[in-house]
Amino acid sequence: MEVLEGLESNVRSYSRSFPAVFSRARGSVMLTEDGRKLIDFLSGAGALNYGHNNHQIKTAIAQYLESDAVVHGLDLATPAKLEFMKTFCSVILQQRDLKYRFQFTGPTGANAIEAALKLSRKVTGRQNIISFTRGYHGMSLGALAGSANRSYRTASGVALSGATFMPYDGYLGPGVDTAEYLQRVLTDESSGIDRPAAILVETIQGEGGINVASREWLQAIQATAKSVGALFVVDDIQMGCGRTGDFFSFEFAELSPDIVVLSKSLSAYGLPLSMLLIKEELDVWEPGEHTGTFRGNNLALVSATAAINIYWRCRKFSQEVRRMGELMRNGLEAIASKRANCFAVRGRGLISGFDCQTTQIAQMTTSKAFQKGLVVERCGPVGQVIKFLPALTIDTETLGRGLEIFEESLDEALD
Ligand SMILES: *Cc1c(COP(=O)(O)O)cnc(C)c1O
Repeated sequence: MEVLEGLESNVRSYSRSFPAVFSRARGSVMLTEDGRKLIDFLSGAGALNYGHNNHQIKTAIAQYLESDAVVHGLDLATPAKLEFMKTFCSVILQQRDLKYRFQFTGPTGANAIEAALKLSRKVTGRQNIISFTRGYHGMSLGALAGSANRSYRTASGVALSGATFMPYDGYLGPGVDTAEYLQRVLTDESSGIDRPAAILVETIQGEGGINVASREWLQAIQATAKSVGALFVVDDIQMGCGRTGDFFSFEFAELSPDIVVLSKSLSAYGLPLSMLLIKEELDVWEPGEHTGTFRGNNLALVSATAAINIYWRCRKFSQEVRRMGELMRNGLEAIASKRANCFAVRGRGLISGFDCQTTQIAQMTTSKAFQKGLVVERCGPVGQVIKFLPALTIDTETLGRGLEIFEESLDEALD
């Protein structure tokens, strides 16, 4: 820890909340150098949907390395890339009646968001992006312009422009239809809001506090985008790749986004990989107009293909994720309802937020949980929501044990 404090920039974050040296991990369990065993409900902030070092996926990576196949090739064609595209097309897209082109971007989610916003502006010739209160889309300046958190925005050091924030579903309480408000200001010739190139939305806001948009709200937002000639862009970086039960988080609302942004768990092994899915007619890029050294890294494409083949060829995995999600949510709701505090539980599939209402309770609970063997993080505007993000492959017993630790920790925090 002295090495960290002495040598790593003050900007480090997770190593403060979870002060340990993590040496090994498998599935939903992490081991520390001093011999502690922790259950992982953080899952690399959503980059480890299939667990740590998933052995089936690891085999594919190991074989690829062993064969001296091309690991880095910029965006040159390789068998790994062709295989990924074919598999993603037939197993993920065609089964859902979706048709998209692939754009491999730089490895971060933020870079993929940049590409999505650039493309939307290029297609429409407009500048404004509609994004939503509590939305989070990454740290580079374009993505940050569409992200709501004040402290992140301030840290940019320049004026962030080109985005207008509208209230997300439920932001103004259950009585106000914020989709209707958006429709109103975008169709009124004198609302003061510039015509947007894109409406950029998360179906569930991950960093923003596990705010869950309804099917009707999402459909209305998509319809508004269409009627005002804006691209409908879904940021599925955290909620995609099976987190909500379906591969895409928007399937339940039967949406047809113009652009889908994927990253975090796309590689399925924690390797960096990001991509856009673009409707064919919107693919107006000139060759090389958005580029990057690490586009579609082959090792990540190999693990991504393996995960699709292992988990997404039949419906069973989705059903299992939903079942485990319900177990988790029922467990959390029981914990909330047993206590007099105004705790709220939100989520869908295997993502849940436990809203403690105050930063202090949430913070004390997660730090006690860490001492007792559970890694779980906080989100929301002031870190008042505890975010449950277990691996989709977690077993019932480990999930139950994690929830027990959480409940004990909450009680100690309330004492
Ligand atoms: C994590 C995240 C991003 C940013 O991805 P990075 O890889 O950290 O740049 C963007 N949008 C959402 C919804 C995210 O969860």
